[in-house]
Amino acid sequence: MTHPDFLWRNPEPRPSYDVVIVGGGGHGLATAYYLARNHGLTNVAVLERGWLAGGNMARNTTIIRSNYLWDESAAIYEHSLKLWEGLSAELDYDLQFSQRGVLNLAHNLGDVREGRRRVNANRLNGVDAEWLDADEVRKFCPIVNVSPRARYPVMGATLQRRGGIAKHDHVAWALARRADAYGIDLIQGCEVTGFEIANNRVTAVRTSRGRIAAGKVALAAAGHTSVLAAHAGIRLPLQSHPLQALVSELLEPVLDCVVMSNAVHVYVSQAHKGELVMGAGIDAYNSYGQRGGVHVIEAQMAAALELFPIFSRVRVLRTWAGIVDVSPDASPVIGRTPVDGLYVNAGWGTGGFKATPGSGWVYAHTIAHDRPHPLAEPFALERFGTGALIDEHGAAAVAH
Ligand SMILES: Cc1cc2nc3c(=O)[nH]c(=O)nc-3n(C[C@H](O)[C@H](O)[C@H](O)COP(=O)(O)OP(=O)(O)OC[C@H]3O[C@@H](n4cnc5c(N)ncnc54)[C@H](O)[C@@H]3O)c2cc1C
Repeated sequence: MTHPDFLWRNPEPRPSYDVVIVGGGGHGLATAYYLARNHGLTNVAVLERGWLAGGNMARNTTIIRSNYLWDESAAIYEHSLKLWEGLSAELDYDLQFSQRGVLNLAHNLGDVREGRRRVNANRLNGVDAEWLDADEVRKFCPIVNVSPRARYPVMGATLQRRGGIAKHDHVAWALARRADAYGIDLIQGCEVTGFEIANNRVTAVRTSRGRIAAGKVALAAAGHTSVLAAHAGIRLPLQSHPLQALVSELLEPVLDCVVMSNAVHVYVSQAHKGELVMGAGIDAYNSYGQRGGVHVIEAQMAAALELFPIFSRVRVLRTWAGIVDVSPDASPVIGRTPVDGLYVNAGWGTGGFKATPGSGWVYAHTIAHDRPHPLAEPFALERFGTGALIDEHGAAAVAH
């Protein structure tokens, strides 16, 4: 089924495809894979202007969880988490998926009330969730500073034990290998620069490698989605911001869970290789440059040291940024657009890695049937007109 010497072919674009996916990140690749696996659609191309998974997919801090507040979000993220639980076996690739538990720390009464409410809401939705007091936090993660003398003392935490991390590159490579084996063309170095639309129906994409006719076109371009949609005359309610992260030098195993804090704003885990992986909040301005301000990193490291005084002498190895697509209610936008045959999957903002398989699953269904998958229905673009928003600012307040 797979090629002996390489993970995927490097094909020339063909003149026409049934489905063209724009963006070769995790979501584009997962969509391609599920189009073939679940719907038998293989006359499909993924067009990537750079290299596969060179965008946010390779830049994120890989936190996976499903403990979102509202029913609609819990349903789609839990669907994704269940897919993660079988994905290494299904793709026959070690994704280093590690369900080591995710703590969301509470540092003030507002955090405590929000966290407890979310634990209850999660349980009602069949999502595993626990509330820990400060002493239980210390037992679960002994290196977190729970001293009452801290500037923002830890008052408790939510814990999702099934949450954790995975190796993002492996996820992309595994999905790409399977999509390629189904005969899907993964075309790198191919930038989409415009669309041909006739009678309100998309008929082709214009690219840096020529015109490609398409029965359907599916956007999966994360931080560049609003730029692309504008080429089709659609104004999306998305803001693009840089989001930064960093890794430390390699350490012996010291942290065996994921720790996130809204109030001091940092999230920390330790990768299998040994580096501490930390993320910050978004840089406040709009930008398409994959870099951010040093002051954001400085604040993030100050926050990390408040929580983990043990890291005070650890050195930073690398920092970087990705461009995230933030929607007004901190929830994704999935579904049809006002142009027939043109679909959008965006707005995952700071938290779409965890959704990679779930997003691909529901987006593929939406494209194949030209109607939203039931789990995607609440996330349609129309909600910004009807006002039926899914406000996840509480569960997504800390970028991750
Ligand atoms: C620093 C950071 C930390 C994060 N941490 C987490 C986390 O811990 N957990 C979590 O769940 N999520 C996290 N995220 C968010 C997550 O990375 C994104 O929501 C998710 O990766 C977006 O989907 P994607 O993988 O398809 O995006 P991308 O990998 O960005 O894919 C989009 C692709 O579209 C391509 N493209 C753009 N324009 C065009 C064009 N015109 N033509 C062709 N191709 C084009 C881009 O080159 C890019 O490769 C983080 C993001 C960042 C930046």
